[in-house]
Amino acid sequence: MEIPLLDLKAQYEPIKEEIIAATLEVYESQRFILGPKVEEFERRIAAYTQVKYAVGVSSGTDALLISLMSAGIGPGDLILTSPYTFFSTAGSIARLGATPVFVDIDSRTYNIDPERLEKRISTLSARERSRLKAIIPVHLFGQCADMDDITAIARSLGMLIIEDAAQAIGAEYMSSDGSLKRAGSMGDYGCFSFFPSKNLGSFGDGGMVTTNDEEAFQRLKIMRVHGAHPKYYHRIIGGNFRVDALQAAILLIKFNYLEEWTEKRRGNACTYRELFATQGIEGIELPSENKGRHIYNQFVIRIDQGRDELKRYLTDQGIGCEIYYPVPLHVQECFRCLGYRPEDFPVALEAAAKTIALPIYPELRYEQIKYIVGKIGSFCKRTM
Ligand SMILES: *Cc1c(COP(=O)(O)O)cnc(C)c1O
Repeated sequence: MEIPLLDLKAQYEPIKEEIIAATLEVYESQRFILGPKVEEFERRIAAYTQVKYAVGVSSGTDALLISLMSAGIGPGDLILTSPYTFFSTAGSIARLGATPVFVDIDSRTYNIDPERLEKRISTLSARERSRLKAIIPVHLFGQCADMDDITAIARSLGMLIIEDAAQAIGAEYMSSDGSLKRAGSMGDYGCFSFFPSKNLGSFGDGGMVTTNDEEAFQRLKIMRVHGAHPKYYHRIIGGNFRVDALQAAILLIKFNYLEEWTEKRRGNACTYRELFATQGIEGIELPSENKGRHIYNQFVIRIDQGRDELKRYLTDQGIGCEIYYPVPLHVQECFRCLGYRPEDFPVALEAAAKTIALPIYPELRYEQIKYIVGKIGSFCKRTM
């Protein structure tokens, strides 16, 4: 059986006609840059994310970059974040001349660990502490970071919070007061990506910044068009961070299915759990779920021994799988200048060595999951 890691053709097929009609509308309008489709999409995302404002941008990476620019981040500033994430979380910090300060992750959720965050801050000098400007928690794989603790720490030090919610659209965090909060609504800025492999994926690149701060909203809109306000007058420097009308038109159609797709992903996660349990497979750790809502952009399991062999084995059996991420950011060559040693973040290192993502896309069928779990079972028996 051939099972890809993600099957975008299966997602496209039933909504093809709608998508084509929506793109034709844009062709007929000949309005390609920003415009009414983008504005409508921004309103939908703001409502869905439970924030006041949303600004469509060119990618998830640019959402992070423009948020940091809007926050006035630059040389000399220190930004706390996770070493176990997609590159652009830290890349966007470094591109502005600021310095990423990594903090190890929680071994259960793979998100930044608030205890280690506090410890890390306590080892900084008073001068360094005064340079701490923001924290970027990443809601990795579709599950929210521990925002209560992170917010308390950030606020006590006057730091801004920029949520990297690129993998977490519609994810919910259960606050200690019992309320459910959506990813992207808890910080000063929320950053989303519509890269095709995300739960809401465009036909190219796209992103969004969410905020409840009206001033930040106005600044983001100006920065998105080179800082021009009015046109050709620049008080600040921005960039070309615009999202295409065509992408917005496509995303508006796909957005109507997002909840259904998310629930299907969650259902697939349940099926995996049931099948792993009934087959009595040992030596595999399934993703841990906090209270709230995990939206399973990725379903990542951990195996103590033989992860690379498992990857080869599954690939040979026709099962798509991937390592997210094989090299933590603190050991990336471009960040060598930051002076980290690999062992500085043992949990991130271990995750990079022992985890593997399995197919979880909405169109995945029961028999396919059964086949995948069966093959993992055979692999585990073989290597025991
Ligand atoms: C995808 C992703 C990004 C970047 O989004 P792009 O749209 O690809 O630029 C940033 N952070 C995380 C955690 C991501 O998964």
